[in-house]
Amino acid sequence: MGRAFDIEPKQVKVVETAFRRIATKIPAPETLEVLQTLHRCEPISMSGQPPIVWDRAEGVQVYDRAGNKWLDWSSGVVVANAGHGASEIKEAIRHQMEKGLLHTYCFPNAERAELVKCLVDITPEKLNKVFLLTTGSEATECAMKLARTYGQRVGGKDKIAIISFGGAFHGRTLGAQMIGGLPALKEWIVNLDPDIHQVPFPDGFRTVDTSFDLFLKSLAQIGLSPGRVAGVILESFQGGSACFAPKEYIQALARWCGENQVLLICDEIQAGFGRTGRLFGFEHYDIVPDLICCGKGISSSLPLSAVIGRSDVMDLYGPAEMTSTHTGNPVCAVAALASIRKIIEGGLVENARAIGQVLIEGLREIAGRYPKIVGAVRGRGLVVGLHIVKGKNQEPDGDLAFAIVEKAFQKGLLLFAPVGFGGATLKVCPPLTITREAILDGLSALAESVEEAAAELGRL
Ligand code: PLP
Repeated sequence: MGRAFDIEPKQVKVVETAFRRIATKIPAPETLEVLQTLHRCEPISMSGQPPIVWDRAEGVQVYDRAGNKWLDWSSGVVVANAGHGASEIKEAIRHQMEKGLLHTYCFPNAERAELVKCLVDITPEKLNKVFLLTTGSEATECAMKLARTYGQRVGGKDKIAIISFGGAFHGRTLGAQMIGGLPALKEWIVNLDPDIHQVPFPDGFRTVDTSFDLFLKSLAQIGLSPGRVAGVILESFQGGSACFAPKEYIQALARWCGENQVLLICDEIQAGFGRTGRLFGFEHYDIVPDLICCGKGISSSLPLSAVIGRSDVMDLYGPAEMTSTHTGNPVCAVAALASIRKIIEGGLVENARAIGQVLIEGLREIAGRYPKIVGAVRGRGLVVGLHIVKGKNQEPDGDLAFAIVEKAFQKGLLLFAPVGFGGATLKVCPPLTITREAILDGLSALAESVEEAAAELGRL
């Protein structure tokens, strides 16, 4: 069972910096009615969100209706790469509204054409067809479907196994949960697909052996020959931990996939669109996957996702056999185009690389001060995970991680609830527009939050 945040307003210290203002109890009493309505009308699963009711958001700032102001280190959930409410995106949406085309259902539109062409242009040559969808989970499910169809075409009816990694997250629809590597998300599934398997993710922290041999050994242990594998899916960095795999491992994996007619699928839903200091996360490994799944930062706003891949794979289904009602909604398409242009032309990829250095150094400095609490700091560009632990065995400390998030939002710094192994990873992923000054301001709030939460829980 996950943890719920208390929605009862608490007296907290007044905060006033260039990026944060806290002047009321938190959550603000003015927002309590909204929180209570949500509590009453939504499933309990939604109560894992920090109880900060957003009224408006701009750049790296989030405001509630009581006038409190937060520095956002969440980007929503790694969505607002181009910044919250970017003027270019708002303008594109406004223009589309005024033009008067909100949906074309199962008919073509020019906005969709412009977006798929743009995505083909900005990805490597091998990835030359795009299928637009709405959510990330749909994109990973679609990639799995394509891999299995491809496997059976090239290798017969038994080439259907999908390999993914322990600790992976690919979404919360049924198929996406099954390819995920978090056992807790699968406990209730009665008939787990017997042809989906997880192998250890070579993070060098919880899996010490980072050699590609471990992948081969794991397949042998499962009893799987390459002839039965249709696809391997991995997050370009693991969302739950912000860990990358070693470059040699992924290069060996790409070679193995090529030799065995296995599709290599990179889930870029978090990693794409500049987040890691490269336009796409897979670029860090100097490989080109067969399929990539995109979402979140593609639009920095409205719901849109995409599978981008080799045309021989993308064309496996005949006319009208692979579609979705909201494919290429024109309002979402113009928002995505504006977001992509801002990320590329506005130098946000380079900013993520440069400012990411300030962020990771600052977080390592905090980790150095609390070696018994922060077990590892992992990430690249503007996504970093702080692994909160207790004891010599690096046991995850979910209670402390949760308490740190609560302290942070009481101080005007927004992080989403802890994720990953044991619910103990604090993820730092601000909009890619963030400045050095804002990073330094956030680091001081985070350091205070770690100190106070650890003292209260007796972890110092
Ligand atoms: N894949 C990754 C790596 C993700 O981080 C997420 C969402 O957090 C998903 C897939 C699922 O995306 P969505 O929540 O849009 O279905």
